[in-house]
Amino acid sequence: MTDLLIVGAGPAGMSAAIEAARLGKKPVIVDNRPEPGGNIYAFLGSNQTSRPHRLTIFGADYAKGAKLLKAFMGEVEADKISYHPSTRLWRLDADGGFALDGPNGAEAGHAKKVILATGAQERPMPLPGWTLPGVMGVGAAQIYMKSGGDLPTGKIVIIGTGPLPLLLAEQLAVAGRPVHAMIEPAGSSQLLASVPEVMGAAAAPKIAVKGLGLLAKRFFRRTPVWRNAHDIAIQGTDRATGVRFRSRKVVDIEASTVLIHDGIVPNLNPIRAADLDVIYSEQQQTWHATGSEVIEVAGDGASILGVNAAIISGRMAARRACGDIESNSDRRGMTRQKAFRKFIDRAYPPIQTAKAATSETVLCRCEMVRASAVTDAIETHGTDPNAIKRALRIGMGPCQGRLCTHSLADFAASSTNSTTDQVGLPRARNPILPVSFAALAKLDQ
Ligand SMILES: Cc1cc2nc3c(=O)[nH]c(=O)nc-3n(C[C@H](O)[C@H](O)[C@H](O)COP(=O)(O)OP(=O)(O)OC[C@H]3O[C@@H](n4cnc5c(N)ncnc54)[C@H](O)[C@@H]3O)c2cc1C
Repeated sequence: MTDLLIVGAGPAGMSAAIEAARLGKKPVIVDNRPEPGGNIYAFLGSNQTSRPHRLTIFGADYAKGAKLLKAFMGEVEADKISYHPSTRLWRLDADGGFALDGPNGAEAGHAKKVILATGAQERPMPLPGWTLPGVMGVGAAQIYMKSGGDLPTGKIVIIGTGPLPLLLAEQLAVAGRPVHAMIEPAGSSQLLASVPEVMGAAAAPKIAVKGLGLLAKRFFRRTPVWRNAHDIAIQGTDRATGVRFRSRKVVDIEASTVLIHDGIVPNLNPIRAADLDVIYSEQQQTWHATGSEVIEVAGDGASILGVNAAIISGRMAARRACGDIESNSDRRGMTRQKAFRKFIDRAYPPIQTAKAATSETVLCRCEMVRASAVTDAIETHGTDPNAIKRALRIGMGPCQGRLCTHSLADFAASSTNSTTDQVGLPRARNPILPVSFAALAKLDQ
């Protein structure tokens, strides 16, 4: 029996593990990547030692993660934390039953307490042509840059808005690959609408100043920005060659790499497979996770609040899991981070492109399910997401519905005049991730 299992070695998971070790527990922490750091600090350790020039590209906020990383690795080396890199959680049950797959093969067990710190993922952005080679998420491109150092080539076009596209555009410019154009879909940036939440911005002044700095840098770099774009379609037959959209007139822009982004949402699969409740947040237009007696959820996996909140919430989850009470300063810190996030959510609401998907647009890329097939399924089965899933296999491919179930809910809601929350998500089941027969065969239970 494992006392405390932490899943995810991003800021939330590392902070939870450090706090649990401080409280005298020896947590087991697993992460599917070969290095700790999660998304924001991905591959910071190896970049620091072997490729320090990359730190210039990713900026001061990336390098800042070194302190947390050092504290975490210090506890690992002192044998106060049992850290297992390249190890995936592929099954989680409500009672703490779990299964892992790592360098030593598959393993199943039971944990008295689990902290899920499995982070966020990019919200899918189904558009005509989004499955063409040459198209990827803004966050995915950034992770490629942080891990292998791969830079997008040719004419780079970004579709979307929010903090991450602004950050990546600047990182690409520093890396010598300035973006060719940024296309902001209609309704994706509402800086004026965020004015009532400006006090929230004041709650995290350093981040607010960084955001303004990124906008200023984009201005001074003269990056072409197209605002209020409608009817966006990625062009090309074998790969992306351009983007066509309407912004007063029809505009065609050449592109060799198209990076898309519609914000980030919690990675819900482990949470839902373990039967934890999820609650729809109108503010973030997505579901948030709640915990249980056995399973705590920390960081962006619970709700999208950013790195500082992830660190605080990891610490708070560890205290709860170890039977201790949360500190008042952490509670105050979370209140400040939530106020700041309200400002960001108002300034950059999600577009939810699935709501306006054309009949040919692919909603589920694993099983190649187009919007037209979902329309037909709705006629037969109504908007019951489980019935649509059974009829079309949407959500049954390798991503196990991580992406397409969000699009399915948005599309079904807009085609039936209901809300995304009313449609809901189909049931999520274990395994959370694809698992090989070889791994299963190694289990003795
Ligand atoms: C692609 C992407 C890029 C981002 N880049 C930035 C950035 O540059 N700057 C910024 O301020 N914010 C960025 N963010 C937001 C950032 O994720 C959060 O602010 C912060 O990192 C959240 O910390 P976390 O610990 O909650 O989750 P994460 O940092 O996401 O860490 C979660 C960890 O859990 C692991 N994991 C997930 N599922 C499993 C599983 N089943 N088994 C084992 N391990 C698992 C993941 O591999 C990851 O290492 C990014 C988000 C995404 C999705």
